[in-house]
Amino acid sequence: MLATLIGATRSGSVTVVDLTTPLQESTPILELPPPFANTSRFRLEELSRYDDRGPAWYWNDIHTGEHTGTHLDAPNHWVTGRDGLDVSQAPLSTLVAPAVVIDRSAEAADDADFLLQVEHVRDWEAEHGPLPDGGWLLYRTGWAARGNDAAAFANADERGPHTPGVAPECARWLARETPICGLGVETVGTDAGQASGFEPAFPCHSELMGAGKFGLTSLRDLDRLPPTGAVLVVCPLPIVGGSGSPARVLALVEG
Ligand code: MN
Repeated sequence: MLATLIGATRSGSVTVVDLTTPLQESTPILELPPPFANTSRFRLEELSRYDDRGPAWYWNDIHTGEHTGTHLDAPNHWVTGRDGLDVSQAPLSTLVAPAVVIDRSAEAADDADFLLQVEHVRDWEAEHGPLPDGGWLLYRTGWAARGNDAAAFANADERGPHTPGVAPECARWLARETPICGLGVETVGTDAGQASGFEPAFPCHSELMGAGKFGLTSLRDLDRLPPTGAVLVVCPLPIVGGSGSPARVLALVEG
């Protein structure tokens, strides 16, 4: 089986798609208003570069938040999941799992505050079949196209950021009534930009983490994935006790 897989990747009948945002100081991060603490940007701190500090070697320390760039949210990230798994405990069956893609990029292009509703997912299921048991729902909004422009990515005005997300009822339904292991998005977080004012606030975080499910953010190139049939490979750092981790996220796609 594995030889077949390697043969398929080499022949091109299976393609590996990198869904990860490159990590650098300019990588967009979530910015919370006062009085809340904020996460760190990604930063390299050079230790030596073939010089007096290390004549034959180049290396850096890295400085980063757990929730910087493309990253995995673990259940213990949210108070509703405080007794749940940390990021080092993410099941391997979650880290390598089927993924489906729901595309609402047309709606998000017209309305930055567009919210995914239960009926949208129901419509998708009517066309493509049930959501995958233990798999990922990836929510395509086209937002990744803004990923190299921090201001456009945040899309904030005096009322805060305006980015697409999930309606509270849909978040609740995805968490409690569907068999998915988690939700992946193109935006800086799984919740809509205006979700601090929702009831409950930040419903994707509240509901998904509370149900022991995971989040994936700042995904790119979801347009290269089919609606069904991809396999996601999610590689967070196994930070013991951590609430999340930057992650390399790859998708295996047939054809
Ligand atoms: Mn996060």
